Amino acid sequence: MIVTKESARAFKAMVLASKRVVIVGHLNPDGDCVGSVTGMKSWIRSLCSAECSVVLPNAGPDYLNFLDPQGEIVYFFDSKEKGAELISAADLIIAMDFNTLSRTEWMKEYIASSTARKVLIDHHPSPEAFADLTISTTEISSASELTWWLLKETGEEIPMESCISLYTGMMTDTNNFSNSVFASTFLMASQIEERKVDREKIQMNVLNSFSESRMRLMGKMLLEKMRIFPHLKAAVMVMDKKTQEEFNYKEGDSEGFVNLALKIADVEVSGFFTETENYIKVSLRSKGAVSVNALSRRFFNGGGHERAAGGRIYIPVQQVEEYFKNSLESFLKEINGTPFDTK
Ligand code: 5GP
Ligand code: MN
Repeated sequence: MIVTKESARAFKAMVLASKRVVIVGHLNPDGDCVGSVTGMKSWIRSLCSAECSVVLPNAGPDYLNFLDPQGEIVYFFDSKEKGAELISAADLIIAMDFNTLSRTEWMKEYIASSTARKVLIDHHPSPEAFADLTISTTEISSASELTWWLLKETGEEIPMESCISLYTGMMTDTNNFSNSVFASTFLMASQIEERKVDREKIQMNVLNSFSESRMRLMGKMLLEKMRIFPHLKAAVMVMDKKTQEEFNYKEGDSEGFVNLALKIADVEVSGFFTETENYIKVSLRSKGAVSVNALSRRFFNGGGHERAAGGRIYIPVQQVEEYFKNSLESFLKEINGTPFDTK
């Protein structure tokens, strides 16, 4: 049993005892984040008459908009007053798909100082102890899958909107069933199938809805920007401002690009770096023994999962490739001498 009867009972009781529920997720929300928060929102609305809103730090990629067809999600970055008001007035805050409050960026202090009861539903290692009820395991594909098992365990009806959201979150976090897949993940997929969820429509929205410029940006990154370090079994791509402008880059356009280099047989670690106004955004992936969670904690001011992590660095964009190479070299030496054949 992934979610215990006691946790599910306690969770349902907390929801039923609340009048104003606010569901929150992390900065730069991905499919799992948007999927879990909207899936939860739809379930709560079908369960009871509590007011229920979703507040996210900022918007995710456009292709996830189908999970919020009425445009109800409040983005704190654009609507700080409204977001702060909702959080302050809440009597229950449900935090989803992050393990530390700092991942909510500007919302952090409002959540921390709120007197609302708090629930954390997450699948990252070492969750921070800020919630009254923490439902967390790393032995699962995604926060969306964990939410599925939680809702199932309550014994209450799961509406179609929740099925669509939670399936989308699970599908995106597993990279369409290619990583972090557990037996329970397929079981969830099977139960979703029984509900006759329109999977084809979800696939279309999520996987086959690139803009032309996004597709061409991918080509540019692969052809001209990808650099390989054979002795480290690693690859890096840096997407600087100039490239972003050239391809009319929008938030989310480079989603998944960090996975591309892992398709190369001899690449086990991939780094994707995005230049932003104030820092370089870091995305790291591994398909071997290297923990990019540990790598990110040590050198990139972040963390995440063993094979998918992120962070930030504060250096000029021209120095990023070198920094990545040097960091990985040091890290590999620190963890076990020279794990790869270093020539
Ligand atoms: P992505 O590369 O898709 O942006 O992030 C991959 C994973 O790394 C996320 O699911 C999240 O767990 C983690 N992550 C991304 N950025 C950060 C960050 O700035 N700090 C921490 N602690 N984790 C991050
Ligand atoms: Mn997730």
